[in-house]
Amino acid sequence: MRNKGCRVLRQSESMRRGAISLTLIALILWQQPFAGAWGNEGHIYINRVAALKIPASMPLFLRHAVAEIAYLGPEPDRWRSPTEFALKNSQEADHYIDMERVSWLDPLPPGRYEFYRKLYEKRAATTDHPDDYLPERVGLQPYITMEVFGRLKSAFREYRQLRKANKPTDSVQQVIIFYAGWLGHYVADGSQPLHTTIKYNGWVGPNPNDYTTEHHIHGQFEANYVAANIFPKDFAGMVKAPEHLDDPFAQYVAYLRDSNKLVDDVYALEKDGGLTGKGSAAAFDFTTRRLAAGSQMLLNLWYTAWIDSANPVPEHGSRPTAKK
Ligand SMILES: [Zn+2]
Repeated sequence: MRNKGCRVLRQSESMRRGAISLTLIALILWQQPFAGAWGNEGHIYINRVAALKIPASMPLFLRHAVAEIAYLGPEPDRWRSPTEFALKNSQEADHYIDMERVSWLDPLPPGRYEFYRKLYEKRAATTDHPDDYLPERVGLQPYITMEVFGRLKSAFREYRQLRKANKPTDSVQQVIIFYAGWLGHYVADGSQPLHTTIKYNGWVGPNPNDYTTEHHIHGQFEANYVAANIFPKDFAGMVKAPEHLDDPFAQYVAYLRDSNKLVDDVYALEKDGGLTGKGSAAAFDFTTRRLAAGSQMLLNLWYTAWIDSANPVPEHGSRPTAKK
């Protein structure tokens, strides 16, 4: 994301509705320095470490695509320039979810349109800041993740069928590498606690621990601290062989909830000066664990997509009601 990222866009939403022109907003945003969720480095590292751990039971071409998968880690952050406004606007909310805003919705519905409907119902029943429940304000993190996971699984299925038919697989291999790398971006965002909270860039609400309310902690943690202090070798050893996820959506949402439980820890590290300069041992331990959690979930999702792509699928005619 840009420095302070997609969240800055949410802050700008109300401005956009005001008198200030879109042109002026674009100029303001244009001047913000680029920096990704986890920064470029964190995203590249999470994808690279996961790719290096792809097991021998998965296709060899994917195990050989470490450089391509690592390159794709920051890819969705490259879709945030005001020069491509429709793209930027459509996908800003994919990078986060405010778990506090959906605490009343457990389990989350598995499809994004049911999620939208529940949020609009909540908004209609809310008098205090109802727009906080707009889908684009709450964030769509688990939905884009599952949608890209679905694309990957579908492409793996195609790969299996082409191989079985002794047909060329070069094209589908390229597609699989793209989906695997693209998926890594969102999974990595989910391991960053500040991508799961209304406190994404400065504490809000009751503040008994006197945590920072300045709008700098997000980039300081995920970009500046990581770039200055962490390398892939620092957390690669924490990533184990992949596990098959029996319920990918539920397990992914649980991963986001776990990440959200660590929001206070990020603020405590900042308060203690652990994220400044060379940082502290506690900050190094915490950050490497979060990066490893991202690589592990990504590896688990790749593995699950591969295994499950062998399962037979219903014929197209048995699809539930779909409008053409
Ligand atoms: Zn992101």
